[in-house]
Amino acid sequence: MEFSIFFDIMWTYLANPEVNENNTTGRPQFLRHLIDLLIRTPQTDLEDIKDENGELNPLNNIQDATINKYCSGTRPIPKKYAKGILKIISDGKKFTEEIDFATPVAKENILKKLRVQQFDATSSSLGEMCFEIMKAFLEKFKEGKTSVTQSDIGTDEEKINCFSLLQEVDSICPLCSQKLLNSSNTNTIAGYDIVNIFPNNLDMEDMSKFSKIKPAPENKDNLENKIPLCLNCANTYLKCPVLDKYKRLVEIKDHINKENKINVALNQLVLESQLTEVIKGLSELTPNQKASSLQYDAHKIEEKIGNDLILRDSVITYVTCYYNKIKEQFSNLTSKGFVFKDLAATISLAYIKLNREGLSQSEIFNRIAKWIIKEENLSEHYFEAARAIVAYFVQDCEVFEVENS
Ligand SMILES: [Zn+2]
Repeated sequence: MEFSIFFDIMWTYLANPEVNENNTTGRPQFLRHLIDLLIRTPQTDLEDIKDENGELNPLNNIQDATINKYCSGTRPIPKKYAKGILKIISDGKKFTEEIDFATPVAKENILKKLRVQQFDATSSSLGEMCFEIMKAFLEKFKEGKTSVTQSDIGTDEEKINCFSLLQEVDSICPLCSQKLLNSSNTNTIAGYDIVNIFPNNLDMEDMSKFSKIKPAPENKDNLENKIPLCLNCANTYLKCPVLDKYKRLVEIKDHINKENKINVALNQLVLESQLTEVIKGLSELTPNQKASSLQYDAHKIEEKIGNDLILRDSVITYVTCYYNKIKEQFSNLTSKGFVFKDLAATISLAYIKLNREGLSQSEIFNRIAKWIIKEENLSEHYFEAARAIVAYFVQDCEVFEVENS
């Protein structure tokens, strides 16, 4: 992107309409203003003096006609000015805020225009991105170059953040289930925007309503406050952030965080690889191989699963039909160095961790089965067998406790 194009985008959507009417003096004035936003507050005596004399911004002493040439791209900003501005460049807060506090329509248009120029801008990082683009232009001018591309500004960290946010929602819009990435044979087109969950720039009244659902985060740029949505849902939310949608997004993000926590917790556990043999053995059973049914005291499971009838009955069925078979297989493994106690302790720990996250009994049951399949590198085909194994551990007391005990 050439500087003139970027300047036009800023000028069209950010300049004060009164200034905007007069191109010949308005444009130079606006470019000086943009540079003012980039410059940090004076930090040395010399900078203080320069500031008082209005010389901190090198464009202040340049004629409008010359600055107009910088704006239109007929002349680049001279190397020495670019160098001078970069020396006193700020952390970008003022520049970023100018964009963050622009009207939603202005921001939407800036975003669209930047995307046309192949910059993967997102609403939640638009201000920062424009600041980075401005800085990159100054770096280029310093080297006598004039155009900036995405690769000049996109840091690896930003890309990784974007990737992890997309992964959190499985690259599907969490509000309408539309795909966020559209892949063809040759390329992938991004059809999403990353928005701040707690909206920017709410008025005081809305701020208090939104805060009641979940208070604003300390740092709005935290990944905790970001979520990717399809362009439609993002635009609607940015233009009109309603309480219902906010609540929904908070719930979705809370669910994601809970899932992340569970995954981290379960990843710390190592399952005995020999469990695979038992699972495979179970799925390969033929009707005449099935061991005798277990005569057992149904009380035990009923005391543990009091409310979830369907779960309780499935567990009872699994236990009645397969408990003996599983037990037999575990004992066959003992000669191969398998230690049942270790496995039981791991399953028990998995249960404790999931229970701590407040999952329902049915969720815990299926979650342990899924985790077993994943840990043992088995396909979905073995899911039922894994559920039978979990039921074995319910009966064996590692999973679920007697309620109200
Ligand atoms: Zn959507």
